[in-house]
Amino acid sequence: MIHVNLKCHKCKNNLMDADFQIEEHPSVKVLIEHKGKRGPLHLSSCYGSYETSTELSIKDGETVKFFCPACNAELTSSRLCYECKAPMVTFESELGGYLRICSRKGCKKHVIEFEKLETELRAFYEKYSTFFKGEAGHEE
Ligand SMILES: [Zn+2]
Ligand SMILES: [Zn+2]
Repeated sequence: MIHVNLKCHKCKNNLMDADFQIEEHPSVKVLIEHKGKRGPLHLSSCYGSYETSTELSIKDGETVKFFCPACNAELTSSRLCYECKAPMVTFESELGGYLRICSRKGCKKHVIEFEKLETELRAFYEKYSTFFKGEAGHEE
């Protein structure tokens, strides 16, 4: 299982919250805005997991805005999800590169992008080589 380590791409503040664990790992803490209400949202740091925790009630199919809890910058990007056309949310990975997730609840689109493709991709493959050795099984 891959665990992502994410930071704000604007202020570089690390978003991992060791005090709030999901699936026994530190979660990714952001602020979200939905129907005029703001509140914290915790995302699982397990890549491929869609577990989240928030006190705001969001129905499947609704989109939310994401903000950095440190600098308040909006993390929603101008890119749109290939699947559902909702805005994608951008996180920067401590490993380099970016992780984008769809802002629509229930949409499972994740994209990983790298700027300096060669070096970062190599680092990523080395760290996560087991993940890319096929899709079989999701055991630890
Ligand atoms: Zn920030
Ligand atoms: Zn989507």
